[in-house]
Amino acid sequence: MIDTIKKQDCTGCKMCADACTVGAISYRTDGEGFWYPQTDDKACIRCGRCVKLCPSLGLSGKENRDGPAPAVFAAWNKDADVRARSTSGGIYYALAETMLEQGGCLAGCAYSGDLKGAYHMIGESREDLERIMGSKYFQSDTAGIYKAVHKELLDGRRILFCGAPCQSAALKSYLGREYDGLVTVDFICRGINSPKAYKRYLEGCEKKYRSGVSRVHFKNKKDGWTSLGTYILFENGREYHRNRVNDPWVNGFVRGNLFMRPCCSACRYKGLPRASDLSIGDFWGLKGSPEDMFQGISLVMANTEKGAAYLEKAGGKLQVQKRSFEEALAGNLCILNPAPQGERRAEFFRRVDTEDFEPLVWELLGETGMKTRLKLIKYRLALWKQAIERLAVRRMQRGTRGRQP
Ligand SMILES: Cc1cc2nc3c(=O)[nH]c(=O)nc-3n(C[C@H](O)[C@H](O)[C@H](O)COP(=O)(O)OP(=O)(O)OC[C@H]3O[C@@H](n4cnc5c(N)ncnc54)[C@H](O)[C@@H]3O)c2cc1C
Repeated sequence: MIDTIKKQDCTGCKMCADACTVGAISYRTDGEGFWYPQTDDKACIRCGRCVKLCPSLGLSGKENRDGPAPAVFAAWNKDADVRARSTSGGIYYALAETMLEQGGCLAGCAYSGDLKGAYHMIGESREDLERIMGSKYFQSDTAGIYKAVHKELLDGRRILFCGAPCQSAALKSYLGREYDGLVTVDFICRGINSPKAYKRYLEGCEKKYRSGVSRVHFKNKKDGWTSLGTYILFENGREYHRNRVNDPWVNGFVRGNLFMRPCCSACRYKGLPRASDLSIGDFWGLKGSPEDMFQGISLVMANTEKGAAYLEKAGGKLQVQKRSFEEALAGNLCILNPAPQGERRAEFFRRVDTEDFEPLVWELLGETGMKTRLKLIKYRLALWKQAIERLAVRRMQRGTRGRQP
């Protein structure tokens, strides 16, 4: 049954438990913090449904990921506040708002109450959307979400599902047919990180700041979109603000590939066609104006006609520019290629239970305090340059407007 699935095949999408008609599947978490299915032999009726519906097993050996390139767009939310609070240009918020305005609902990822985990939920309101927006760069617990989406569809509701490509593929496999009311969105995915590693990171921050956390925000834009800022607010009012140079989570993820799920380095959901109607990401390949590079630009791929039509519906909330697939690929090789596992990944997981997260990551990345300090100086100079460029462009724009008849 499904518990014989190999670690490098299992994405942890948790669809198999939703698919099991006798409730024989549960999940055990391994030492790295990733969950895998286990079957209760006594309850299992050997129907084979779990194996048949598993998208990873179904895909094995017969993938065709060389499809034609989808239509590609650069987009950003016209609402400056939404754009500033979003991970890239705020495309997701526009898509989700459109669904709520049509009386539909959302299925997306929110932080757990203590902020030390994330899970998929059904959202009905703007308050729910505020919880769902924003990237949580570790695995979301999707237990029950496939059943819940199916129920909404059977009740005749419209729903926008957003998740990793493997989760979206799992939903499609679970449903087994197209539903007019369903729009699926996935993101360009570098890889899904260990919930345990994320928890250890937060615990390290709590220890240092001597307080519990009350807010976590990845890709915080205080210093701009490209700073890859991480903001944490603590219950005692203190604030943590680090960036792509000095934040150990961002560095362990993007530079070290230290905490990724085993299957991600051989991801079956890369390539074309993609699993969802729309795919969203950061448009790193675009060299926009200094202001746009500060505020963030989303990449959107319309993979199906349904996706293209839905994007058009949300278009009033967005600035949209047609772009080429080559431009998308230039900054996002992850559209087609999985990221490799870091050389020191195994050592990270061997030591993370007993050592503090931050010094461990810096050691594994070969970072010394002096190296980081030098990089920080360079980074701050770049921030100054960015601020001066933005100011110059704004002055020029004001000047041009002033001269108009
Ligand atoms: C683990 C991870 C890796 C990513 N890697 C890349 C990358 O390599 N290149 C790239 O261009 N973009 C990547 N993204 C996507 C990027 O972070 C933004 O989501 C995207 O640019 C859209 O931005 P946004 O502001 O419109 O949406 P956001 O406000 O970020 O909303 C995105 C949606 O994603 C869902 N979501 C958030 N976290 C998770 C999660 N852990 N699991 C499942 N669903 C989640 C939310 O429910 C929300 O619906 C990644 C996202 C995640 C979560």
